[in-house]
Amino acid sequence: MLTGKAKVKTMPILCQVFNSFVRKNKIEVLHIKYGRLTVIGEVYYKKIKNFGNYQFVKAKCDCDDNIREYRVDQLKCGNTKSCGCLSREKAAQRMTKHGLSGTRIYSIWKDMRKRCNNSNSSTYKYYGRKGIKVCDEWNDFMNFYNWSMKNGYADELTIDRVDSSGNYEPNNCRWITKSKNIAKRNKENIRITRVYKYTSPDYKTGYFNNAAEFARNNNLCSKRIYDVCNKKIKQYKGWHFEIIKELNKGQETISRESTQEDELPVEAQGLLC
Ligand SMILES: [Zn+2]
Repeated sequence: MLTGKAKVKTMPILCQVFNSFVRKNKIEVLHIKYGRLTVIGEVYYKKIKNFGNYQFVKAKCDCDDNIREYRVDQLKCGNTKSCGCLSREKAAQRMTKHGLSGTRIYSIWKDMRKRCNNSNSSTYKYYGRKGIKVCDEWNDFMNFYNWSMKNGYADELTIDRVDSSGNYEPNNCRWITKSKNIAKRNKENIRITRVYKYTSPDYKTGYFNNAAEFARNNNLCSKRIYDVCNKKIKQYKGWHFEIIKELNKGQETISRESTQEDELPVEAQGLLC
């Protein structure tokens, strides 16, 4: 519990300014309504222990007929809006509103918001930091839930953004199987990542974008291909490699002495689509 003195330290600065003002000037608040509270009496002073004189009024809350006393500064600041019924209602709503808080779809919703909104999330760097958002509509769980039910949600499905650089919103999302989701992600990763140029031991040149596949087809080790590209070794079994284009998901060039897409050799251009 905060003591009176600790409380004042955490009070917004405007409240503090207002406090000292109302302590010196009696303010007419009769019949004014603050949230659910209607003031029904004159302002009077009362001492708060260790803290000095404060203005109080009697007021009645919408929820019942009881008359209680409230601090004027707290009413004026908006800190006090009801007899306490408002925050009790809100808490109860959170607990029981949808009764779905233990369900799979609720965890999916929570995780989705976490990776977009919470920079402490381990996956935030792939979502929130890249500007991917959850649309306003879906900040309300029930909107997300209703959309999901109308759009084929099932317990074995995962949520997928059709355009991977787009937001979580109704017209960019669908429910697909986990394996489809993974396959899609893999395909995207291959499609967008790199264009390699090779020179074979017999001086033929060409291009590829899947180093693992190229290594397999030519009896090589993909790790060595990367080593050549990163100039850790000069050549590998007589092969030379370099990365001539590297893209990220937004199709932006991220490194290398790369060229614009239309400047890529004709044979290599197909690798980017
Ligand atoms: Zn009340």
